Amino acid sequence: MNILVVGSVAYDTVKTPFGQAEDVLGGSASYFSVAASFFTSVRLVAAVGEDFRAEDRAVLERRKIDLSGLCTEKGKTFRWSGKYGYNLNEAHTLVTALNVFEHFQPRLPDSYRDSELVFLANIDPDLQRQVLEQVKDPKLVALDTMNFWIDSKLDSLRRTLSKINLLMINDGEARQLSGEVNLVRTAQRIFEWGPSTLVVKRGEYGVLMFTREATFAAPAYPLESVLDPTGAGDSFAGGFMGYLANSGNFGESSIRQAIIMGSVMASFNVEAFSLDRLSKLSYREIEDRYRAMKRLTHFEDL
Ligand code: AMP
Repeated sequence: MNILVVGSVAYDTVKTPFGQAEDVLGGSASYFSVAASFFTSVRLVAAVGEDFRAEDRAVLERRKIDLSGLCTEKGKTFRWSGKYGYNLNEAHTLVTALNVFEHFQPRLPDSYRDSELVFLANIDPDLQRQVLEQVKDPKLVALDTMNFWIDSKLDSLRRTLSKINLLMINDGEARQLSGEVNLVRTAQRIFEWGPSTLVVKRGEYGVLMFTREATFAAPAYPLESVLDPTGAGDSFAGGFMGYLANSGNFGESSIRQAIIMGSVMASFNVEAFSLDRLSKLSYREIEDRYRAMKRLTHFEDL
């Protein structure tokens, strides 16, 4: 099955205790689509400005991502700047400049309308909904968002949530959105709003998944060196959705495996700035780390 993603394609400026990068390729849709491209074909919808560099487009092209929905608009590419302290789980946003996204009206190429899985990556919830309304009959729709949109567009976000199957969000934002401190209650509240599955991303502590019937937990892969956590959530989502699309099965055990594959892709991403590690990965490395994750989480009864 194929995947359609709408989200940001960005230039990021990032500072972590281990280094910094200025005006490098980032954005929720970029991280997502590169991660997912190892498993299935990906169609991207986003806008960039006239300053978007040919070498950055080439990073996406080399992964065979369908860019017929990537529009070049008058103005500048979306920019985000953030920094992290030693707690790498928490990004401090310094600048969000929407630039071309301020007036972007996405129109899907006809070839995108039959998309089977849809990922509404972190972007204005109005844009997420506009894209979703143009897809004919998606089999699974997942969404990510962040405090920026919870603070500024809560009503629109709630409307978009009513149309999706799966919400993927970090723990602080899940609590902010639901108004609940407890994550089990958070899941119950979010189920009332539409999604039937909640995946809570908890940075280096891993991931928790809730459905009405089951709960599943996965650790993050323990790494010796983490350089930049930016895009970990989107790479997780790309590995997760890519795996589901490839398996064509959305049953519970497939979802559990997809969570492990999401964790694998996120673990590679944080080893370097920007898309430097993800874009150069081999499928062999992915398989090896998937097996290592399996060993990490395996135990037997006495
Ligand atoms: P993550 O670390 O996975 O949560 O996502 C980081 C990416 O999200 C960065 O590459 C940013 O360019 C992008 N980003 C940050 N803020 C926003 C926003 N308000 N809307 C869309 N994308 C954003």
